[in-house]
Amino acid sequence: MSTQTITVIKGDGIGPSIVEAAIQILDKAGCDFNYEYVDAGLTALEKTGDLLPEATLDAIARNKITLKGPLTTPVGEGFTSINVTLRKKFNLYSNVRPVISFKGTKARYENIDIITIRENTQGMYSGHGQVVSEDGLIAEATSIITRDGAERIVRFAFELARRENRQKVTVVHKANILKSTSGLFLKVAREVAAEYADITMQEMIVDNTCMQLVMNPQQFDVIVTTNLFGDILSDLCAGLVGGLGMAPGANIGEDCAIFEAVHGSAPDIAGKNLANPSSVILASIQMLEHLGMKDKAEKIKAALTDVIASGDRTTRDLGGSHGTTDFTAAMLERL
Ligand code: NAD
Repeated sequence: MSTQTITVIKGDGIGPSIVEAAIQILDKAGCDFNYEYVDAGLTALEKTGDLLPEATLDAIARNKITLKGPLTTPVGEGFTSINVTLRKKFNLYSNVRPVISFKGTKARYENIDIITIRENTQGMYSGHGQVVSEDGLIAEATSIITRDGAERIVRFAFELARRENRQKVTVVHKANILKSTSGLFLKVAREVAAEYADITMQEMIVDNTCMQLVMNPQQFDVIVTTNLFGDILSDLCAGLVGGLGMAPGANIGEDCAIFEAVHGSAPDIAGKNLANPSSVILASIQMLEHLGMKDKAEKIKAALTDVIASGDRTTRDLGGSHGTTDFTAAMLERL
């Protein structure tokens, strides 16, 4: 079998430090990947005048698997979000965001193991919106849900649940008010769920879901929902296990997949050796699982679990007093 090449976008701000940590850890675990480094975001804009150069798009398409640090989208007119562009360009319709409790974090809860699956290309983020009155006082936006789009994301969720021996899929919606869009999503979800008799399908309205996640998060297993609800709920879930430093995400399409930290470039701590690299390490674990390299994934997860539980050289957000490089050294020693 030929060696897998991974496209690596180190990203902006804290991106390079945490992505480099993850690459050292992948190598130490014996993953034997080739890496093709390309730029995007502010780094690319400064080098090439383009936020998302053609060479980067070519590498993502060619290698199929990408590991990506956070990117800064400059504020202002004319810059569309790079992440949204990547999701649309490569039809990365599924955003998979797992959260698990690690002993030793400052999280409020224990025993949480939830995967949120967010539809990544439709809904309120379809991109159709404008100010419609001349005085600028009225604006509108269109939410688009298609039967095909709803079916493929719900099927993705049930297939994932079956593959990972999970018991329940909660379909989150607002079909009582948004009767057309959320209504169609729920209708299709019920049809798909009927094909998976081995998995319990639960329906829950999004506002109740927020309360339930805070009151009793252990009841959730897999959540599947539309774009905007998934965006918000997955950050809520990250908060349940200790914050964004512990939250990875995978953007998966038919052909390509991009694995990333879900937080941003953290300009407040960039260049200070303070960032927690766990988010990108967890994204690498997701990448290994996607590639069928379960043993390596388990090995890295065991090292991460031990470093955090023992508090050995952990970063400030985890209650420690160390930096990115010390945390990485503690991981490398265990591997
Ligand atoms: P942020 O996620 O960068 O930071 C929020 C807070 O969390 C900050 O206090 C930061 O220090 C902290 N934090 C984030 N990651 C951390 C880590 N690994 N370890 C320790 N602390 C961490 O959000 P922001 O400040 O609103 O956004 C900054 C920039 O990032 C913006 O330009 C935004 O567009 C971009 N952004 C990119 C992505 C992405 O590429 N996926 C996602 C969100 C925001």
